[in-house]
Amino acid sequence: MKKRLFPFVFICVLFCAVLCGCTRYELTEFFALDTFVTITAEKPNGDVLKKAEKLVKDYEDKLSVTKDGSEIKRLNESGTLTLSEEVAALMKLSLSACERTDGALDITVYPLVKAWGFTVGEKKVPSSEELSSLLPLVGYENVTVTGNAFTLENGTELDLGAVAKGYITDKLVKLFKENDVKNALISLGGNVYVAGKYGGRDWNVGIKSPFGDGKAFCGVKLSDKAVVTSGQYQRFFEENGKVYGHIIDPATGVPVDNEFSSVTVIGENGFWCDALSTALFVMGKDKALEFYGEHGDFDFILIMKDGSVAISEGIKDAFSLADENTPLTVIKRSDKN
Ligand code: ADP
Ligand code: MG
Repeated sequence: MKKRLFPFVFICVLFCAVLCGCTRYELTEFFALDTFVTITAEKPNGDVLKKAEKLVKDYEDKLSVTKDGSEIKRLNESGTLTLSEEVAALMKLSLSACERTDGALDITVYPLVKAWGFTVGEKKVPSSEELSSLLPLVGYENVTVTGNAFTLENGTELDLGAVAKGYITDKLVKLFKENDVKNALISLGGNVYVAGKYGGRDWNVGIKSPFGDGKAFCGVKLSDKAVVTSGQYQRFFEENGKVYGHIIDPATGVPVDNEFSSVTVIGENGFWCDALSTALFVMGKDKALEFYGEHGDFDFILIMKDGSVAISEGIKDAFSLADENTPLTVIKRSDKN
């Protein structure tokens, strides 16, 4: 019996050794920022993955809108606060993103987010009276800045939920560069960054189907890029047969319900991709394509409710569909400006 077992054990050990030789990737997974965080890195030296987890959790402590003691929560509670150098810089960057997107992204949307029961409380459709009373509170011009001192006028409140994960992704990329990790995959919920290569090739990033079938809808081969997806299909509730998602149109106070099922933005910088994926989602197709024509420093994948998809020309050759029969339009920037 022992004799027969030996070759079997040997083959198993050999197989494992070969596998370990190939898979030099290490993985860490944890829950933070109200989502599952997965970080895979090739040959991470020392405790760089532990440092990565600490970095994410430290930023959550500073930026969360619900955690006691966070700078954002303290500012919301007191209405005026001098922020730390870094959070102040992020706030200024976020305000510039609100301006650049003409208020489609608006970090003062929190009174509305709360009224609809996202983040805190019970999810519900607010009365039209409640919405009309809250709309004047929303508007990034209600934030005044003097140095690093921020004041919230008219009782508004801030929420960096639409940009924080992208910003933190950029900090993880920096940490990996400093620690000589060249190849890595960072995923903070819908916020992904692929650094370097996987097995010598570009990473193939799957974009989840927004139609609830748990499959990938399409894939895009990338290196050193952020890939950020916004949609209403993960955080939502249903009332009287209607679906209400967590991305709110700051102009109307109501969750966005347009032709998009999901919007993915691809670019160098996680913060901007996160800001733009939310903002383009709010804009809707026509305005989003106009914005692309004007700015164009990013790529996109727009999955429509009717099952069709539009992509920017920059990712045409890297893009693949799970179902070849999906109607696909490639948008040229020159057609839009
Ligand atoms: P996720 O946080 O799921 O990755 P987004 O980046 O699109 O998705 O951000 C959505 C979150 O941002 C919401 O949960 C809410 O807290 C906040 N938010 C909702 N609508 C807006 C908006 N128009 N502008 C800025 N923030 C918003
Ligand atoms: Mg976003």
